[in-house]
Amino acid sequence: MITTKGYAAQAPSAPLSPYTFDRKDPGVNDVTIDILYCGVCHADIHQAKNEYGGTAYPFVPGHEIIGRVHSIGKEVARHSVGDLVGVGYFLDSCRHCSSCEEGEEQYCEKGITPTQNARLKDGTVTKGGYSNTIVVDERYVLKVSESLAPAGVAPLLCAGITTYSPLRHWNVGKGHKVAVLGLGGVGHMAVKFAASFGAEVTVLSGSPSKRESALALGATHFVVTSDVAELKAVAGRFDFLIDAVSAKHDYNAYLGLLKKDGTMILLGVPPEAPQLAAFQLIARRRKIAGSFIGGIAETQEMLDYCADHNITADVEVIAPDYINDAFERTLKGDVQYRFVIDMTRLG
Ligand code: NAP
Ligand code: ZN
Ligand code: ZN
Repeated sequence: MITTKGYAAQAPSAPLSPYTFDRKDPGVNDVTIDILYCGVCHADIHQAKNEYGGTAYPFVPGHEIIGRVHSIGKEVARHSVGDLVGVGYFLDSCRHCSSCEEGEEQYCEKGITPTQNARLKDGTVTKGGYSNTIVVDERYVLKVSESLAPAGVAPLLCAGITTYSPLRHWNVGKGHKVAVLGLGGVGHMAVKFAASFGAEVTVLSGSPSKRESALALGATHFVVTSDVAELKAVAGRFDFLIDAVSAKHDYNAYLGLLKKDGTMILLGVPPEAPQLAAFQLIARRRKIAGSFIGGIAETQEMLDYCADHNITADVEVIAPDYINDAFERTLKGDVQYRFVIDMTRLG
């Protein structure tokens, strides 16, 4: 067993606190990673507070992991000791279903094994990257370029691939008008990638204070969603609307911003499902779709694209003992745009 230090929530309403636990001994295909940085995704907050039900406590969040390979099993061929590597939202899948064979493991028909809060056959529950070490099968470990600041790379493992994958799937690029609703960790990566792919990007935000930084991220227009006149001015304008909002909101208020045949892509997972007004879709043959993280090969492609184009997340690096403040500030939208925990400061 590997004694591991981390932070865990012990109950839905409890703050995260220091927690020591054991990781399994590595097998022949496993990579043991010393964690350097872990991003704070809103999914960690949803789950820590048991907003979807099913959180097993103690709950150790964290699935935007960057670290260095500490040791490798004797069959490991893809990674070497000392390599900079990443681990994202899942660390296993069935490997045999059609989705796994197509490299879209995130849609595994048997279900992926999430990095956090997955109940394994042996009764244990996976514990995520708010910790100083993790053991992962080499197939689910990503290679990370040394050319980018590693703290800014950590959020690419979830926020990055979550936005890169749908933009690639729908071939978003030059000539497209894209709206990004909700400028948080996920939303700001949607802006960076959509702009990098050549689309014209408009941010739709409830926070007027984010205007300047939205433009710096690559948006050319900024709309305050509480301003009825501003919203009306962009009605029927967009080919795609990427919804990265974490809380309950009215989808129907935004469907009307799409052109004929436009697509609203849901990324945010509000705990409460909103009602859908069918006519908003029917009236212009609009579509509503969803997208979930990305497969391992596509995550590697995204990381390589970021290294080639010098793309990282905009981050505020924090010490582990700041995590409860970071959760509170994320809930208030007070971070531009992702907290990243420096795990080497676990003490
Ligand atoms: P985040 O950093 O907290 O950003 C969420 C943004 O939503 C906020 O910055 C805010 O943007 C907006 N917002 C918050 N409360 C709102 C409200 N009551 N009404 C309207 N807008 C509100 O969260 P995140 O880490 O980006 O995650 C966003 C969502 O995506 C979460 O639900 C998360 O679980 C989900 N997610 C999904 C995937 C996937 O694979 N599909 C992957 C990662 C995360 P403004 O200030 O601009 O309004
Ligand atoms: Zn996430
Ligand atoms: Zn599968």
